[in-house]
Amino acid sequence: MVVAVVWFRNSLRIHDNPVLSWAYESENVDSILPIYIFDEEIQQKSTLTMGEQRLRFQFDCVDNLHQNLKDKLDLDLHVFLGDSIDVLESIKQQLQSFEVILLNEYSTNPRDRKQSESIEKNFFSTNQNWSAKSLPASQTILDIEAIVNSSGFKSPKSMKDMVRLFKTEFGDFDNIVFATSEPNPSVGKPKQALSVNSEYQISLDKIRPLLSKPTYFIGGESEAIARLENKVISQQDYVNSFNKPKSISTNTKDNPMEPTTTGLSPYISTGCLSIRRLWNSCSKIQQSGEHTVPPVSLHGQILFREMFYLLSRSVENWDQDSGNSQCKEIEWGELNQVQLEAWELGQTGFPLIDAMMRQLDATGWMHHLGRHAVSCFLTRGQLWQNWTHGRDIFERKLIDSDWALNNGNWLWLAGVAPFSMPYYRIYNPCPDSKSSLNVETKDAEFIRHWIPELAEFPSKYIFEPHLAPLHIQESAGCLIGKDYPSPIIDRKEARKRNLQSFKLSLEKLR
Ligand SMILES: Cc1cc2nc3c(=O)[nH]c(=O)nc-3n(C[C@H](O)[C@H](O)[C@H](O)COP(=O)(O)OP(=O)(O)OC[C@H]3O[C@@H](n4cnc5c(N)ncnc54)[C@H](O)[C@@H]3O)c2cc1C
Repeated sequence: MVVAVVWFRNSLRIHDNPVLSWAYESENVDSILPIYIFDEEIQQKSTLTMGEQRLRFQFDCVDNLHQNLKDKLDLDLHVFLGDSIDVLESIKQQLQSFEVILLNEYSTNPRDRKQSESIEKNFFSTNQNWSAKSLPASQTILDIEAIVNSSGFKSPKSMKDMVRLFKTEFGDFDNIVFATSEPNPSVGKPKQALSVNSEYQISLDKIRPLLSKPTYFIGGESEAIARLENKVISQQDYVNSFNKPKSISTNTKDNPMEPTTTGLSPYISTGCLSIRRLWNSCSKIQQSGEHTVPPVSLHGQILFREMFYLLSRSVENWDQDSGNSQCKEIEWGELNQVQLEAWELGQTGFPLIDAMMRQLDATGWMHHLGRHAVSCFLTRGQLWQNWTHGRDIFERKLIDSDWALNNGNWLWLAGVAPFSMPYYRIYNPCPDSKSSLNVETKDAEFIRHWIPELAEFPSKYIFEPHLAPLHIQESAGCLIGKDYPSPIIDRKEARKRNLQSFKLSLEKLR
């Protein structure tokens, strides 16, 4: 009997899942064993690499996958807690008399790649009846491996490069609908039920009580499909007029949790939503009439994503400050732990920065322009800290944490990459209504929600509350320096100093 072990890692979904479809369609495969491995110890509601909300979101994705596999395909997702090689060894013991094909998802993340290599080296060589099968990337539209290995491939540096590349691959691509692969149990030969027992197996009911409660975003394919329907498919005008740089960073009026953009990133990063399905939904709407185009359109956002995936696979040391061809080594100096902590905890005394960081901590999400504001503030803007420190905090906390995208965007915002925004374009962390950070400043509802200390502050002073006269602070019930921190840095002085330091650092690199 031939068993296909389908290892779910970065595509926690049934729809448009080429690995699952292959297992169904293959005439050789008699039985499918879907598995998921939690490979880190859970302590205090988090793991070494995942903060509370991120871990909770991931858990919900696995829980929903478990349910959907059962309901739609009558498959039992086997969930394990332990080191991946130990888990696979224990499965091997159970499947000794079978031929086994391990279907492992493509990844550009070196951690996953190293793990896969080590499995191949230590595992398949000693297990004659085990083999591995890899399929092209299912998290991207492009076949990343094929593109980066094609002759004449050059790292893309701009949206123009990406448009050119997509034109070469797909012709007139903007309204194209890509083929998707939907697993169909009635195709191929009928599959036999199969179950294994392993000491590492764990029931999801045992994990659930160890985790925090979700605060806004709930993980899983079902939520992803519902959000796609509500925010994209049923919103023709929204899609056709989507203009990312114009979107409001302080969320929706009357709902400080709900993004003005699609809010689909957590579902795309965990693979609960196929990027092709999002692309196709936009294409079908765009065919109906006039629409925005890359870089500002939704398709444009997907092109940025594809660009960072290509770079993450083709650039050595993509996540490093040195030895990275896409990163100028600026002299950031020593880590200032106190400032970094104030930034992380939303205690800098700059309400916009603090509100954004508190939102990240509580929900695991932040609008793109909010990410611009806080990353610029931490690096070249005010605090002059190495971008990798902020990157690490984002990686742990974001529910859409994605190795390729997080590093790419931090490189962009720190001003160190060839594709970066100019280093001298520094955001004012105390914005007014004209700021390109698109902050709602009239009522400042977002700030009041995330910084309750400032709830009664007049809007006029709320973005720079230490400038408010004492009697105003008193009548708002918030004394700056006592109830809410004074600014941890003189923003104007810091800006001036940092511009000089950046320029000097660049000159030394010439
Ligand atoms: C410092 C920094 C770190 C970031 N880290 C991450 C990360 O770890 N994971 C992540 O998914 N995004 C990251 N982003 C990109 C971006 O902020 C989020 O993808 C976006 O805000 C998600 O919101 P949305 O789904 O409503 O986006 P929409 O505007 O609705 O866009 C649709 C989809 O396009 C993709 N996308 C949009 N913007 C970008 C972008 N700039 N780069 C790459 N893909 C994009 C996402 O998959 C997104 O869901 C980061 C941005 C910055 C500035």
